[in-house]
Amino acid sequence: SDLSHIRNFAIIAHIDHGKSTLADRLIQVCGGLTDREMKEQVLDSMDLERERGITIKAQTVRLNYTAKNGRTYQLNLMDTPGHVDFAYEVSRSLAACEGSILVVDASQGVEAQTLANVYQAIEANHEIIPVLNKIDLPAAEPARVKEQIEDVIGIDCADAVEVSAKSGLNIEGVLESICARLPAPQGDEKAPLKAMLVDSWYDPYLGVIILVRIKDGVLKKGQKVLMMQSGATHPVDRVGVFSPKMEEVKELKAGEMGFITAGIKSVADCNVGDTITEDGRRCAEPLPGFKPSIPVVFCGLFPVDASDFEHLRDSLAKLRLNDSSFEYVPETSAALGFGFRCGFLGLLHMEIIQERLDREFDLDLITTAPSVVYRMHMTDGTLKELHNPADMPDVMKIDFIEEPWVKATIMVPDDYLGPILQLCTERRGIQLDLTYAGNRAMAVYKLPLNEIVFDFYDRLKSISKGYASFDYEVADYSESDLVKVGILVNGEPVDALAFIAHRTQAEFRGRAICARLKDLIPRHLFKIPIQAAIGGKVIARETIAAMRKDVTAKCYGGDISRKRKLLDKQKEGKKRMRQFGKVEIPQTAFINALKMD
Ligand code: GDP
Ligand code: MG
Repeated sequence: SDLSHIRNFAIIAHIDHGKSTLADRLIQVCGGLTDREMKEQVLDSMDLERERGITIKAQTVRLNYTAKNGRTYQLNLMDTPGHVDFAYEVSRSLAACEGSILVVDASQGVEAQTLANVYQAIEANHEIIPVLNKIDLPAAEPARVKEQIEDVIGIDCADAVEVSAKSGLNIEGVLESICARLPAPQGDEKAPLKAMLVDSWYDPYLGVIILVRIKDGVLKKGQKVLMMQSGATHPVDRVGVFSPKMEEVKELKAGEMGFITAGIKSVADCNVGDTITEDGRRCAEPLPGFKPSIPVVFCGLFPVDASDFEHLRDSLAKLRLNDSSFEYVPETSAALGFGFRCGFLGLLHMEIIQERLDREFDLDLITTAPSVVYRMHMTDGTLKELHNPADMPDVMKIDFIEEPWVKATIMVPDDYLGPILQLCTERRGIQLDLTYAGNRAMAVYKLPLNEIVFDFYDRLKSISKGYASFDYEVADYSESDLVKVGILVNGEPVDALAFIAHRTQAEFRGRAICARLKDLIPRHLFKIPIQAAIGGKVIARETIAAMRKDVTAKCYGGDISRKRKLLDKQKEGKKRMRQFGKVEIPQTAFINALKMD
């Protein structure tokens, strides 16, 4: 069969360089939607994605384009996630395509995620078309940026396409390049079915929707498919494409991309990267699989109101339906009661889940300090993974501790380089490389993930006035001198505030938290000592003075409804407080105490 009219491609870019805007334009030019249907940024569909301007889940759209040579092409466009936390999802999506459109903002140039993404595309053997976007901006310097792309990445920019995705200028230039320069897929329609499970998500009406790329054979409604990794079989009840509207088609053939549904209840049953074949006529070899993405950052989530625990459990289960990279197990805290220990791909992933719990499920939560996974080598020769600082074993029984390190790439204008290097040093960074491209420096560092989890990204942005970009990949584990710092309020340990730090930073961090708690905990009728301690040794101390007099406000007169309102307010406020021994700590204190600046 003839696949020469098919082009499967991804759009890759640093965040804000115009990936989604370009994707929307391509859809518009190919007539996928009428103007009226063309809501802003079709591909970033989830509310949160649209607000934050990021893509979390990959989406694929089929477009038909009649090129200047008179042929009509089937274009399958994949939008890829645009944030470092989801880098792993990018690499998986790229495996489903033959080419990439590399979008670079012509007024900004190459950034850290431009590099990270482009290296992944090169690794996936992609043909890459550089596209310089935002040439409508007065600050655009396409010539300089092309030179930079050639210098830094080594991609030929002689035929780079210059566009304005916003105004729609030269979108056809992009489409013509896709048809002329990207390779067609290969595959054998007559061979047994062999399809890649590219992504899956949960739809409340249709159940799990699976995005597939057919390598060989044909996929049809009614077929009984086998997932080769999980061993499960399912009858296919729907086959279709997004145009970008959901549209059923008769079949999907070798080389094509589309979706199926098969009465599946949970995405946990759909391993991304799994090979889908026909149960009665199996393909000989599965496709090379993917490693599952593993959570690297953990934190505890506890309901402010203990009676919300079941609601929290149900909500986490619902979120997990759509996001198998997010993990949770029940956890009990002496200070916070019943909750869950949750694992995330990174800090942004963590924030997104927290925000969704708040918005979509109306849950008031207390979040403990994010922590990475430590490896405890015990004196008895066993290895323990520590996901929660509160569970730190007796130090006498620990031989040594290892922590995860990352390889971080930072791109920054020269002017800000000094303070950025200083930040990396403060955070125990080891410089691996420092190079220049034009007036931008590229620094490569090895850093402990623990140091990044705190507030590295925020600091980087504020030091560089927003100009630095940053990307990292988890590299390896190595031994470190780490200690657990406990926080005591009025002599009571508050397990939710315990954290693990390098010995050299323990005192500084402990002091900072005590000082903050002093401001965050309201005065009581008695004096409250706040201490940070390593084991039995106090390393920092603050004291909250006692309130001078009980100044209870009284409501006189007959305005009963006003009185009631005030009482309700007080009740609300109470719910947001946590009792530790005799001391009440406001919910916000947990979050704010752990922020550094
Ligand atoms: P993404 O993060 O790569 O998906 O970027 P978006 O497509 O969301 O675009 C980021 C911002 O750049 C938005 O405010 C867009 O309106 C703007 N933008 C995108 N393309 C252009 C362009 O060609 N010219 C100008 N001036 N702005 C653009
Ligand atoms: Mg986007």
